[in-house]
Amino acid sequence: MAVFRIRRPEIGSISLSAAATLYLLLITNNSFWSHAVTSFGHAWIAVLSFGVALGLTTFSVLTMLSMKYLMKPLLVLLIAISAAASHFTETFGIVIDKEMIGNAAVTTGPEASHLLTGSLALHLALYALLPSLLIAWVKIKHRPFFSKAAINFLFVAPALLLSGMLIYANLAGIAYALREHRDLMVRFNPAGPITSAVRYGLSSYRERNLVVQPLGIDAKQGARIATAGKPVVVVVVAGETARAMNFSLNGYHRDTNPELEALGVVNYRDTTSCGTATAVSLPCMFSVYPRSEYSDWKARSTENLVNVLTHAGVSVTWWDNNTGSKGIADLISFASMTHQKNSPLCSNGECLDEIFLGDLDKKLAAMTKNSVIVLHQLGSHGPAYYLRYPEAFRRFTPDCRTPELMSCTTEEIVNAYDNTILYTDHVLASVAGLIEKHQDRIAGAMIYMSDHGESLGENGIYLHGAPYAIAPKEQTEVPFIAWFSKPYQAIMGVDTGCLAKDTDKPRSHDNLFHTVLGMMDVQTRVYNRALDAFAACTRPAERKQGAPGFHAADNAAPRRLSAVRQIW
Ligand SMILES: [Zn+2]
Repeated sequence: MAVFRIRRPEIGSISLSAAATLYLLLITNNSFWSHAVTSFGHAWIAVLSFGVALGLTTFSVLTMLSMKYLMKPLLVLLIAISAAASHFTETFGIVIDKEMIGNAAVTTGPEASHLLTGSLALHLALYALLPSLLIAWVKIKHRPFFSKAAINFLFVAPALLLSGMLIYANLAGIAYALREHRDLMVRFNPAGPITSAVRYGLSSYRERNLVVQPLGIDAKQGARIATAGKPVVVVVVAGETARAMNFSLNGYHRDTNPELEALGVVNYRDTTSCGTATAVSLPCMFSVYPRSEYSDWKARSTENLVNVLTHAGVSVTWWDNNTGSKGIADLISFASMTHQKNSPLCSNGECLDEIFLGDLDKKLAAMTKNSVIVLHQLGSHGPAYYLRYPEAFRRFTPDCRTPELMSCTTEEIVNAYDNTILYTDHVLASVAGLIEKHQDRIAGAMIYMSDHGESLGENGIYLHGAPYAIAPKEQTEVPFIAWFSKPYQAIMGVDTGCLAKDTDKPRSHDNLFHTVLGMMDVQTRVYNRALDAFAACTRPAERKQGAPGFHAADNAAPRRLSAVRQIW
C-alpha cells in the first residue's frame, strides 16, 4: 500500500527571519502602531521611517541569531511573548513595563488565575500556537557556518545601515516622540516586554546586595501617649484598588458609603497616590520619601514607617489579606490571612476582607501596649471584582460575574466595582466599630488610604498600573479617610471639627508616614509636621522636635537585607 506523505516545506533561514519579522510587526503590535501614530502627531513620514527602521533592526537581530539549533525555539519564544503581551495590552490597555513585570512576579496564584482567561487561551492558540506549529513543521535550510556568516552579513549590514539612515533622517521627530511618550517603546513587541523583564531582573539582582539604612532610631513616644493611662491603638488600613471618585463621601452619585457617612469620618476629597500599582504605591506610602524623591531602590535601602514606630517602642503588627507587604513588614510581626482554609470567608486561597475582624476583636480585647496594626486589604482588586464582596453586598446589579471584563457591559463592570466599595465601606466601619467596642480599654483611631485607583474602561483602559506620567486620574485619585474614637480624641487632643474644615486641601501618600507618626505621638527628627495631615487640628503638646528632614544613617550600623529576611 502506498503511503502518501506531505513533504515538509523548506525555507531558508534568512527568508524565515524576514517572515517572522513581518509577523511580529504586523500581527502582534497593534497597540504599538496606534500609539506611534498619535505619539508622532500623525507625521506619517516619520512614523513610516521609524517603523521600517524597527523592522530592519528586528530582521537583523533575528538573522544574526538564526543558528541551527537556536532559531526555532527562539522564534517560538519571541512569538509567544509577543502574543501574550499583545493580549494584555489590547484587552486591558496595560503596558508591560518593569513595574508590571514586578507586579506579575510578586502576585499570588489566585490573583494571577483571574487573568488567565478563556480569551487569553484563545488568543494564544491563534497568535502563538498556530505560527509556532508552522515553524516547528517547516525545514530550515542552513548553510555551512562560514558561508552562512558571509551571507547573513550581506543582508544584515545594509539593513542596519538603512535603518540608521532612516532614523538619522528623522532624528528630531523620533527623539521628540520617544522623549515625550516614554511608554511607546515598551509597547513594541517583543523587545518592550523583554527589556522590561531584563530591567526587573537586574534590579532584583542589585537588591541582593542591598544594605538597609536605619531610620529614626532617635524615635520615642511623647508625653501624651506615654501617660495616656490606656493603650493607644492606631489601625492603618492600606486599601487596594479603591478609587476616590466612586466613594459617595466624595460626591459619587451612588450611596457607596452608607456606614462611613453614618459614622462621621474625616474624609479628604483630594488625595493622590504615589504610584498606580501596589508594588510602587505600598512601599512609597510607608516610606519617608515623598513621591518626588521616591525610588524603589531608596525605599528598599532605608527603613520605613513601621521600623520608626518600632524604634519608638510602639508594637507594630501587619496583617495581610493581599499579596504581602512588599518587604515593608520584614522586621515586624506579620501574618497572612489568606491561608485560613476553614473560614467561610475564604475560598481558593483568597479571603473577603471581613477576615480581619475576628482577629482584630480578639487583639483589641487583649491589648496592653501602644500599638499600630496595619490591615492590608484585598479591597477592590480586579479583574474579578465579583469575588471581593459577599452576596449581602451585591446591591448594585446586574454585576459582572466573571474576570473576563470584555464579556461584560460597562454598567455590569461598574456595578461589580461599586459593590466592592460598598463592602470596603462596611469593613472600615466595622474596624471603627471594634475600636469603639473596646474603648473602655483602649484609645483607638483608624486611618485608611487606598494604594491606587482603577480604570473601569474609561478611554478603553482597564485595571491599573499605567505609567504615572500618563496615568488617568481614575488610577491616581485615592480615598483618604480617618476616624477617631472619643477616648483617642481626648488623650491626643484631636479636634475633629477643625479637621472637618480642612478636608478640601490636597493630600497625598506623602502624608501617611508623618501622619501616623503624629497619631502615635512619636517624636523623632525624621517627623515632618508640615506633612502630618492632622497636626494643625491636634492640640499642641510638649512636642519637641528638630528641623524637618531626616538622617538615614544616624549612628546604627547598616544591616544586610538578606540577613534580615531570614528572621521571619
Ligand atoms: Zn494595589
